[in-house]
Amino acid sequence: MRKYDIAIVGGGASGLLLSCLLAERGKKNFILLERNDRLGKKLSATGNGQGNITNLDMSAEHFYSDEKEKVSSLLSRFSQRELLSFLEKLGGLFEADERGRVYPASKQASSVTDLLRGYLSAKGVSVRTGFFVREVTCSDGFCLKGEGEELFCSRLVLCGGGMAQKNFGSDGNMYEIAKKFGHTVVKPHPSLVQIKTDAEPIKGLKGIRADVRLSAFDGGKTLGVSEGDVIFTDYGVSGNAVFYLSPKLADRTSATLSIEFLPNVTREKLVSLLKNKIASRKDVEKSEILSCFLNNQIGRNVVRRAPAFTAEALVDTLKDYKLQYRGTLGFDYAQVTRGGVPLKETDFALQSKKKKNLYFCGELLNVDGDCGGYNLQWAFSSAYAVAQALL
Ligand SMILES: Cc1cc2nc3c(=O)[nH]c(=O)nc-3n(C[C@H](O)[C@H](O)[C@H](O)COP(=O)(O)OP(=O)(O)OC[C@H]3O[C@@H](n4cnc5c(N)ncnc54)[C@H](O)[C@@H]3O)c2cc1C
Repeated sequence: MRKYDIAIVGGGASGLLLSCLLAERGKKNFILLERNDRLGKKLSATGNGQGNITNLDMSAEHFYSDEKEKVSSLLSRFSQRELLSFLEKLGGLFEADERGRVYPASKQASSVTDLLRGYLSAKGVSVRTGFFVREVTCSDGFCLKGEGEELFCSRLVLCGGGMAQKNFGSDGNMYEIAKKFGHTVVKPHPSLVQIKTDAEPIKGLKGIRADVRLSAFDGGKTLGVSEGDVIFTDYGVSGNAVFYLSPKLADRTSATLSIEFLPNVTREKLVSLLKNKIASRKDVEKSEILSCFLNNQIGRNVVRRAPAFTAEALVDTLKDYKLQYRGTLGFDYAQVTRGGVPLKETDFALQSKKKKNLYFCGELLNVDGDCGGYNLQWAFSSAYAVAQALL
Protein backbone atom coordinates (compact mmCIF):
# COMPACT_ATOMS: atom_id res chain seq x y z
CA MET A 1 0.00 0.00 0.00
CA ARG A 2 1.33 3.46 -0.94
CA LYS A 3 2.03 5.69 2.10
CA TYR A 4 1.98 9.51 2.17
CA ASP A 5 2.48 12.07 4.88
CA ILE A 6 -0.57 14.03 3.67
CA ALA A 7 -3.52 13.18 1.44
CA ILE A 8 -5.75 16.00 0.17
CA VAL A 9 -9.13 14.71 -0.99
CA GLY A 10 -10.88 16.96 -3.51
CA GLY A 11 -9.13 18.79 -6.34
CA GLY A 12 -11.46 21.80 -6.40
CA ALA A 13 -10.62 25.39 -5.46
CA SER A 14 -9.44 24.71 -1.90
CA GLY A 15 -7.62 21.43 -2.62
CA LEU A 16 -5.78 22.96 -5.57
CA LEU A 17 -4.61 26.03 -3.68
CA LEU A 18 -3.60 23.98 -0.64
CA SER A 19 -1.49 21.72 -2.86
CA CYS A 20 0.18 24.75 -4.49
CA LEU A 21 0.96 26.32 -1.10
CA LEU A 22 2.52 23.09 0.15
CA ALA A 23 4.51 22.65 -3.06
CA GLU A 24 5.74 26.25 -2.92
CA ARG A 25 7.18 25.59 0.55
CA GLY A 26 8.97 22.49 -0.67
CA LYS A 27 6.66 19.88 0.80
CA LYS A 28 7.10 16.59 -1.05
CA ASN A 29 5.38 13.57 0.40
CA PHE A 30 1.74 14.43 -0.29
CA ILE A 31 -0.91 13.55 -2.84
CA LEU A 32 -4.00 15.29 -4.25
CA LEU A 33 -6.93 12.99 -5.01
CA GLU A 34 -9.89 13.94 -7.20
CA ARG A 35 -12.86 11.80 -8.23
CA ASN A 36 -13.38 13.59 -11.58
CA ASP A 37 -11.21 12.95 -14.58
CA ARG A 38 -9.73 16.45 -14.23
CA LEU A 39 -9.00 18.96 -11.49
CA GLY A 40 -11.00 22.13 -10.79
CA LYS A 41 -14.10 21.43 -12.87
CA LYS A 42 -16.26 23.75 -10.75
CA LEU A 43 -13.59 26.43 -10.47
CA SER A 44 -13.46 26.54 -14.27
CA ALA A 45 -17.20 27.25 -14.40
CA THR A 46 -17.32 30.02 -11.79
CA GLY A 47 -18.55 33.56 -12.43
CA ASN A 48 -20.41 32.56 -15.61
CA GLY A 49 -17.14 31.11 -16.88
CA GLN A 50 -15.28 34.35 -16.08
CA GLY A 51 -14.02 33.35 -12.60
CA ASN A 52 -14.93 35.91 -9.94
CA ILE A 53 -12.22 34.68 -7.59
CA THR A 54 -12.41 37.27 -4.81
CA ASN A 55 -13.64 40.75 -3.89
CA LEU A 56 -11.89 43.93 -2.75
CA ASP A 57 -14.40 44.24 0.12
CA MET A 58 -14.03 41.25 2.46
CA SER A 59 -16.06 42.56 5.41
CA ALA A 60 -17.57 40.02 7.80
CA GLU A 61 -21.17 40.89 6.86
CA HIS A 62 -20.68 38.96 3.60
CA PHE A 63 -20.25 35.60 5.38
CA TYR A 64 -22.56 33.15 7.16
CA SER A 65 -21.27 30.62 9.68
CA ASP A 66 -21.61 29.28 13.22
CA GLU A 67 -18.33 31.05 14.07
CA LYS A 68 -18.16 34.35 12.20
CA GLU A 69 -15.21 35.68 14.18
CA LYS A 70 -13.11 32.69 13.24
CA VAL A 71 -14.05 33.22 9.59
CA SER A 72 -12.91 36.87 9.78
CA SER A 73 -9.69 35.92 11.46
CA LEU A 74 -8.86 33.23 8.88
CA LEU A 75 -9.76 35.58 6.01
CA SER A 76 -7.45 38.25 7.38
CA ARG A 77 -4.53 35.80 7.56
CA PHE A 78 -4.81 35.17 3.82
CA SER A 79 -6.86 38.04 2.44
CA GLN A 80 -7.66 38.96 -1.15
CA ARG A 81 -4.32 40.82 -1.25
CA GLU A 82 -2.26 37.76 -0.27
CA LEU A 83 -4.31 35.61 -2.64
CA LEU A 84 -3.73 37.93 -5.59
CA SER A 85 -0.06 38.33 -4.87
CA PHE A 86 0.33 34.53 -4.67
CA LEU A 87 -1.55 34.03 -7.95
CA GLU A 88 0.46 36.78 -9.61
CA LYS A 89 3.64 35.05 -8.47
CA LEU A 90 2.36 31.95 -10.25
CA GLY A 91 1.93 34.00 -13.44
CA GLY A 92 -1.63 35.38 -13.36
CA LEU A 93 -3.03 38.88 -13.88
CA PHE A 94 -6.25 40.05 -12.20
CA GLU A 95 -8.59 43.05 -12.42
CA ALA A 96 -11.50 44.33 -10.31
CA ASP A 97 -14.80 45.67 -11.67
CA GLU A 98 -16.95 48.51 -10.31
CA ARG A 99 -18.48 46.18 -7.69
CA GLY A 100 -15.04 45.16 -6.38
CA ARG A 101 -15.33 41.72 -7.98
CA VAL A 102 -11.94 40.41 -9.06
CA TYR A 103 -11.52 38.36 -12.24
CA PRO A 104 -8.55 37.08 -14.21
CA ALA A 105 -7.78 39.65 -16.92
CA SER A 106 -8.46 36.86 -19.43
CA LYS A 107 -12.08 36.71 -18.10
CA GLN A 108 -11.70 32.94 -18.27
CA ALA A 109 -12.16 31.00 -15.04
CA SER A 110 -10.38 28.06 -16.63
CA SER A 111 -7.20 30.12 -16.81
CA VAL A 112 -7.11 30.20 -12.98
CA THR A 113 -7.49 26.41 -12.90
CA ASP A 114 -4.73 26.13 -15.51
CA LEU A 115 -2.47 28.37 -13.44
CA LEU A 116 -2.84 26.18 -10.34
CA ARG A 117 -2.80 22.86 -12.19
CA GLY A 118 0.25 23.90 -14.20
CA TYR A 119 2.12 24.87 -11.05
CA LEU A 120 1.45 21.47 -9.46
CA SER A 121 2.71 19.77 -12.57
CA ALA A 122 5.85 21.95 -12.68
CA LYS A 123 6.55 21.11 -9.05
CA GLY A 124 6.05 17.40 -9.66
CA VAL A 125 3.22 17.06 -7.12
CA SER A 126 1.52 13.66 -7.02
CA VAL A 127 -2.01 14.01 -8.37
CA ARG A 128 -4.52 11.23 -8.93
CA THR A 129 -7.71 11.98 -10.83
CA GLY A 130 -10.48 9.40 -11.13
CA PHE A 131 -9.89 8.41 -7.48
CA PHE A 132 -13.20 8.51 -5.61
CA VAL A 133 -12.55 8.16 -1.87
CA ARG A 134 -15.52 6.07 -0.79
CA GLU A 135 -14.45 5.22 2.73
CA VAL A 136 -11.88 6.29 5.29
CA THR A 137 -10.79 4.05 8.14
CA CYS A 138 -8.09 4.71 10.67
CA SER A 139 -5.76 2.99 13.06
CA ASP A 140 -2.38 4.70 13.32
CA GLY A 141 -3.05 7.05 10.37
CA PHE A 142 -5.81 7.05 7.74
CA CYS A 143 -6.62 4.43 5.13
CA LEU A 144 -8.45 5.83 2.08
CA LYS A 145 -10.43 3.34 0.06
CA GLY A 146 -11.19 3.99 -3.57
CA GLU A 147 -12.48 1.55 -6.15
CA GLY A 148 -10.27 -1.52 -5.83
CA GLU A 149 -7.36 0.37 -4.29
CA GLU A 150 -6.23 1.77 -0.98
CA LEU A 151 -3.87 4.49 0.05
CA PHE A 152 -2.43 5.38 3.45
CA CYS A 153 -1.61 8.78 4.98
CA SER A 154 -0.64 10.19 8.34
CA ARG A 155 -2.59 13.43 7.90
CA LEU A 156 -5.79 13.85 5.95
CA VAL A 157 -7.42 17.01 4.51
CA LEU A 158 -11.01 16.79 3.30
CA CYS A 159 -11.75 19.36 0.56
CA GLY A 160 -14.81 17.73 -0.99
CA GLY A 161 -17.07 20.80 -1.23
CA GLY A 162 -20.78 20.99 -0.44
CA MET A 163 -23.81 19.89 -2.44
CA ALA A 164 -24.22 22.61 -5.05
CA GLN A 165 -24.34 21.32 -8.65
CA LYS A 166 -23.29 17.72 -8.13
CA ASN A 167 -22.34 17.42 -11.81
CA PHE A 168 -19.06 19.09 -10.79
CA GLY A 169 -18.33 16.31 -8.26
CA SER A 170 -19.42 17.82 -4.94
CA ASP A 171 -22.51 15.92 -3.86
CA GLY A 172 -22.31 15.92 -0.06
CA ASN A 173 -20.62 12.51 0.16
CA MET A 174 -17.94 13.97 2.43
CA TYR A 175 -20.48 14.84 5.12
CA GLU A 176 -20.80 11.08 5.66
CA ILE A 177 -17.03 10.68 6.04
CA ALA A 178 -16.99 13.57 8.56
CA LYS A 179 -19.85 11.99 10.52
CA LYS A 180 -17.90 8.72 10.85
CA PHE A 181 -15.29 10.72 12.81
CA GLY A 182 -17.95 12.03 15.19
CA HIS A 183 -18.73 15.32 13.46
CA THR A 184 -22.18 16.78 13.11
CA VAL A 185 -23.39 18.48 9.93
CA VAL A 186 -25.45 21.68 9.96
CA LYS A 187 -28.42 20.96 7.66
CA PRO A 188 -27.44 21.92 4.09
CA HIS A 189 -29.58 24.46 2.18
CA PRO A 190 -29.07 25.83 -1.34
CA SER A 191 -27.80 29.43 -1.50
CA LEU A 192 -26.99 31.82 -4.37
CA VAL A 193 -29.97 30.36 -6.12
CA GLN A 194 -33.19 31.32 -7.87
CA ILE A 195 -36.23 32.11 -5.71
CA LYS A 196 -39.68 30.53 -6.00
CA THR A 197 -42.73 32.76 -5.54
CA ASP A 198 -46.46 32.50 -6.04
CA ALA A 199 -46.91 32.03 -9.77
CA GLU A 200 -50.30 33.68 -10.34
CA PRO A 201 -49.30 37.36 -9.86
CA ILE A 202 -46.44 37.10 -12.37
CA LYS A 203 -48.29 35.09 -15.02
CA GLY A 204 -47.35 36.28 -18.51
CA LEU A 205 -44.03 37.82 -17.43
CA LYS A 206 -41.81 34.80 -18.10
CA GLY A 207 -38.47 35.80 -19.63
CA ILE A 208 -38.87 39.55 -18.97
CA ARG A 209 -35.99 41.34 -17.29
CA ALA A 210 -35.97 44.58 -15.30
CA ASP A 211 -33.45 46.57 -13.26
CA VAL A 212 -34.83 46.84 -9.75
CA ARG A 213 -34.21 47.15 -6.05
CA LEU A 214 -35.27 43.87 -4.40
CA SER A 215 -36.04 43.51 -0.68
CA ALA A 216 -37.12 40.66 1.56
CA PHE A 217 -39.13 41.03 4.77
CA ASP A 218 -40.47 38.76 7.45
CA GLY A 219 -43.12 40.42 9.57
CA GLY A 220 -41.79 43.93 10.06
CA LYS A 221 -38.14 42.90 9.80
CA THR A 222 -36.04 43.65 6.72
CA LEU A 223 -34.02 40.52 5.87
CA GLY A 224 -32.01 42.01 3.02
CA VAL A 225 -31.93 44.43 0.09
CA SER A 226 -30.15 44.06 -3.25
CA GLU A 227 -29.93 45.85 -6.57
CA GLY A 228 -29.56 44.51 -10.08
CA ASP A 229 -31.73 42.73 -12.59
CA VAL A 230 -34.58 40.32 -11.97
CA ILE A 231 -35.76 37.92 -14.64
CA PHE A 232 -39.29 36.59 -14.26
CA THR A 233 -39.67 32.84 -14.70
CA ASP A 234 -42.55 30.37 -14.46
CA TYR A 235 -41.54 29.41 -10.89
CA GLY A 236 -40.56 32.88 -9.58
CA VAL A 237 -37.54 35.12 -10.09
CA SER A 238 -33.94 34.80 -11.20
CA GLY A 239 -31.21 37.33 -12.07
CA ASN A 240 -28.42 39.17 -10.30
CA ALA A 241 -30.58 40.90 -7.69
CA VAL A 242 -31.99 37.50 -6.73
CA PHE A 243 -28.53 35.92 -6.39
CA TYR A 244 -27.38 38.82 -4.23
CA LEU A 245 -30.45 38.52 -1.99
CA SER A 246 -30.76 34.74 -1.76
CA PRO A 247 -28.19 34.21 1.07
CA LYS A 248 -30.54 36.19 3.34
CA LEU A 249 -33.26 33.64 2.62
CA ALA A 250 -31.25 30.40 2.35
CA ASP A 251 -32.56 28.75 5.53
CA ARG A 252 -35.91 30.52 5.83
CA THR A 253 -39.35 29.11 5.25
CA SER A 254 -41.31 32.37 5.06
CA ALA A 255 -40.71 35.84 3.72
CA THR A 256 -42.27 38.48 1.50
CA LEU A 257 -40.38 39.94 -1.46
CA SER A 258 -40.83 43.50 -2.60
CA ILE A 259 -39.66 44.58 -6.04
CA GLU A 260 -39.10 48.30 -6.54
CA PHE A 261 -39.28 49.06 -10.25
CA LEU A 262 -37.65 52.31 -11.40
CA PRO A 263 -35.48 52.52 -8.24
CA ASN A 264 -33.68 55.63 -9.50
CA VAL A 265 -36.83 57.72 -10.06
CA THR A 266 -38.46 59.29 -7.00
CA ARG A 267 -42.02 58.51 -6.00
CA GLU A 268 -42.91 62.22 -6.24
CA LYS A 269 -41.68 62.50 -9.82
CA LEU A 270 -43.55 59.37 -10.89
CA VAL A 271 -46.82 60.50 -9.26
CA SER A 272 -46.55 63.90 -10.90
CA LEU A 273 -45.79 62.47 -14.37
CA LEU A 274 -48.58 59.92 -14.12
CA LYS A 275 -51.17 62.42 -12.87
CA ASN A 276 -50.38 64.53 -15.89
CA LYS A 277 -50.52 61.56 -18.26
CA ILE A 278 -53.84 60.27 -16.87
CA ALA A 279 -55.39 63.77 -17.19
CA SER A 280 -53.97 64.68 -20.58
CA ARG A 281 -53.90 61.38 -22.51
CA LYS A 282 -57.52 60.18 -22.49
CA ASP A 283 -56.74 58.38 -25.76
CA VAL A 284 -54.39 55.95 -23.97
CA GLU A 285 -56.00 52.70 -22.81
CA LYS A 286 -55.87 52.28 -19.03
CA SER A 287 -53.84 49.09 -19.35
CA GLU A 288 -51.19 50.98 -21.36
CA ILE A 289 -50.76 53.94 -19.03
CA LEU A 290 -47.35 52.73 -17.83
CA SER A 291 -46.03 52.37 -21.38
CA CYS A 292 -42.60 53.99 -21.64
CA PHE A 293 -42.27 53.78 -17.83
CA LEU A 294 -41.96 49.99 -17.68
CA ASN A 295 -41.74 47.07 -20.07
CA ASN A 296 -45.25 46.84 -21.59
CA GLN A 297 -46.10 43.46 -20.05
CA ILE A 298 -44.85 44.53 -16.64
CA GLY A 299 -46.77 47.81 -17.00
CA ARG A 300 -50.06 45.99 -17.78
CA ASN A 301 -49.43 43.59 -14.90
CA VAL A 302 -48.88 46.52 -12.49
CA VAL A 303 -52.10 48.23 -13.68
CA ARG A 304 -53.97 44.95 -13.11
CA ARG A 305 -52.54 44.53 -9.61
CA ALA A 306 -52.96 48.15 -8.47
CA PRO A 307 -55.93 48.58 -6.08
CA ALA A 308 -57.17 51.67 -7.99
CA PHE A 309 -56.50 53.51 -11.25
CA THR A 310 -54.89 56.56 -9.68
CA ALA A 311 -51.33 57.85 -10.02
CA GLU A 312 -50.72 57.19 -6.30
CA ALA A 313 -52.00 53.60 -6.39
CA LEU A 314 -50.05 52.76 -9.54
CA VAL A 315 -46.84 54.20 -8.12
CA ASP A 316 -47.39 52.44 -4.77
CA THR A 317 -47.74 49.15 -6.67
CA LEU A 318 -44.71 49.57 -8.89
CA LYS A 319 -42.54 50.80 -6.00
CA ASP A 320 -43.63 47.96 -3.71
CA TYR A 321 -44.51 45.04 -5.99
CA LYS A 322 -45.07 42.24 -3.51
CA LEU A 323 -44.46 38.55 -4.10
CA GLN A 324 -44.82 35.73 -1.60
CA TYR A 325 -41.58 33.78 -1.11
CA ARG A 326 -42.06 30.02 -1.60
CA GLY A 327 -38.53 28.74 -1.07
CA THR A 328 -35.69 28.37 -3.54
CA LEU A 329 -34.76 26.04 -6.36
CA GLY A 330 -32.67 23.05 -5.28
CA PHE A 331 -28.98 22.18 -5.09
CA ASP A 332 -28.81 21.43 -8.82
CA TYR A 333 -29.30 25.16 -9.46
CA ALA A 334 -27.45 26.63 -6.46
CA GLN A 335 -23.92 28.01 -6.55
CA VAL A 336 -23.17 27.30 -2.91
CA THR A 337 -24.28 25.34 0.15
CA ARG A 338 -25.38 26.91 3.43
CA GLY A 339 -24.49 24.45 6.23
CA GLY A 340 -21.88 21.69 6.55
CA VAL A 341 -19.34 20.68 9.20
CA PRO A 342 -19.61 23.27 12.02
CA LEU A 343 -16.60 25.53 12.31
CA LYS A 344 -16.78 25.20 16.08
CA GLU A 345 -15.83 21.51 15.71
CA THR A 346 -12.45 22.60 14.33
CA ASP A 347 -9.55 24.61 15.78
CA PHE A 348 -7.93 27.69 14.18
CA ALA A 349 -5.94 25.47 11.82
CA LEU A 350 -9.25 23.87 10.78
CA GLN A 351 -8.11 20.63 12.39
CA SER A 352 -10.89 18.45 13.69
CA LYS A 353 -11.51 18.62 17.44
CA LYS A 354 -12.80 15.04 17.19
CA LYS A 355 -9.90 13.41 15.36
CA LYS A 356 -6.29 14.53 15.44
CA ASN A 357 -4.58 15.04 12.05
CA LEU A 358 -7.92 15.38 10.22
CA TYR A 359 -8.48 18.78 8.56
CA PHE A 360 -11.29 20.43 6.59
CA CYS A 361 -11.26 23.12 3.90
CA GLY A 362 -13.68 25.13 1.80
CA GLU A 363 -17.39 24.73 1.31
CA LEU A 364 -17.51 21.43 3.22
CA LEU A 365 -17.38 23.60 6.35
CA ASN A 366 -20.35 25.56 7.63
CA VAL A 367 -19.25 28.79 5.95
CA ASP A 368 -20.78 30.42 2.90
CA GLY A 369 -20.64 33.90 1.46
CA ASP A 370 -22.53 36.38 -0.63
CA CYS A 371 -22.41 36.47 -4.40
CA GLY A 372 -19.30 38.35 -5.57
CA GLY A 373 -16.19 36.20 -5.05
CA TYR A 374 -16.69 35.47 -1.34
CA ASN A 375 -17.03 31.71 -1.61
CA LEU A 376 -13.83 31.22 -3.56
CA GLN A 377 -11.97 33.53 -1.20
CA TRP A 378 -13.17 31.38 1.71
CA ALA A 379 -12.01 28.23 -0.11
CA PHE A 380 -8.58 29.84 -0.61
CA SER A 381 -8.24 31.37 2.89
CA SER A 382 -9.24 28.11 4.55
CA ALA A 383 -6.67 26.28 2.40
CA TYR A 384 -4.02 28.70 3.64
CA ALA A 385 -4.92 28.04 7.30
CA VAL A 386 -4.50 24.30 6.78
CA ALA A 387 -1.30 24.73 4.77
CA GLN A 388 0.28 26.69 7.64
CA ALA A 389 -0.53 23.84 10.03
CA LEU A 390 0.81 21.14 7.72
CA LEU A 391 4.17 22.75 6.92
C1 LIG B 1 -21.85 27.51 -11.42
C2 LIG B 1 -21.09 28.04 -10.22
C3 LIG B 1 -20.54 29.30 -10.28
C4 LIG B 1 -19.85 29.81 -9.17
N1 LIG B 1 -19.29 31.05 -9.28
C5 LIG B 1 -18.57 31.54 -8.24
C6 LIG B 1 -17.89 32.77 -8.35
O1 LIG B 1 -17.85 33.40 -9.42
N2 LIG B 1 -17.21 33.23 -7.26
C7 LIG B 1 -17.18 32.54 -6.07
O2 LIG B 1 -16.56 33.01 -5.10
N3 LIG B 1 -17.79 31.34 -5.94
C8 LIG B 1 -18.46 30.82 -7.00
N4 LIG B 1 -19.06 29.59 -6.88
C9 LIG B 1 -18.87 28.83 -5.62
C10 LIG B 1 -17.46 28.20 -5.57
O3 LIG B 1 -17.18 27.60 -6.82
C11 LIG B 1 -17.33 27.15 -4.45
O4 LIG B 1 -17.72 27.73 -3.23
C12 LIG B 1 -15.91 26.63 -4.36
O5 LIG B 1 -15.54 25.98 -5.57
C13 LIG B 1 -15.77 25.65 -3.21
O6 LIG B 1 -14.46 25.13 -3.23
P1 LIG B 1 -14.17 23.71 -2.55
O7 LIG B 1 -12.75 23.41 -2.79
O8 LIG B 1 -14.65 23.73 -1.15
O9 LIG B 1 -15.10 22.68 -3.32
P2 LIG B 1 -15.19 22.32 -4.88
O10 LIG B 1 -14.58 23.39 -5.69
O11 LIG B 1 -16.61 21.96 -5.10
O12 LIG B 1 -14.26 21.03 -5.01
C14 LIG B 1 -14.55 19.84 -4.37
C15 LIG B 1 -13.89 18.73 -5.15
O13 LIG B 1 -13.91 17.52 -4.38
C16 LIG B 1 -14.17 16.44 -5.25
N5 LIG B 1 -14.69 15.33 -4.44
C17 LIG B 1 -15.85 15.33 -3.73
N6 LIG B 1 -15.97 14.17 -3.05
C18 LIG B 1 -14.87 13.43 -3.36
C19 LIG B 1 -14.43 12.15 -2.96
N7 LIG B 1 -15.13 11.40 -2.10
N8 LIG B 1 -13.26 11.67 -3.48
C20 LIG B 1 -12.52 12.42 -4.35
N9 LIG B 1 -12.89 13.66 -4.73
C21 LIG B 1 -14.05 14.17 -4.24
C22 LIG B 1 -15.15 17.01 -6.24
O14 LIG B 1 -15.18 16.27 -7.43
C23 LIG B 1 -14.63 18.43 -6.44
O15 LIG B 1 -13.74 18.53 -7.53
C24 LIG B 1 -19.75 29.05 -7.97
C25 LIG B 1 -20.32 27.79 -7.92
C26 LIG B 1 -20.99 27.27 -9.03
C27 LIG B 1 -21.60 25.91 -8.94
